[in-house]
Amino acid sequence: MAKVSFIIDKVPVDVRSAKNDFHRAIFEEMEKYVQRTLGTEKCPEHGQEPEVIYVGQDPTKLFPGVHACCDKMTRLVQAKLRI
Ligand SMILES: [Zn+2]
Repeated sequence: MAKVSFIIDKVPVDVRSAKNDFHRAIFEEMEKYVQRTLGTEKCPEHGQEPEVIYVGQDPTKLFPGVHACCDKMTRLVQAKLRI
């Protein structure tokens, strides 16, 4: 499964260590969305799973970024997530 992480106001935040239930609900929804959309997608060349990182000042204004093993995989993930 793709890893989903969040960086809120420059601080990495784990879904389970969200500040409150509202934040946690948003993180869980986004994590589910990414994992549902990407499934067990792996790079056909390197066999690595991607990581999607959402960055923003607060959980209601997040911008997605993709960390993958290569440009090809990055583009594949971006296309699937339409980002
Ligand atoms: Zn790759």
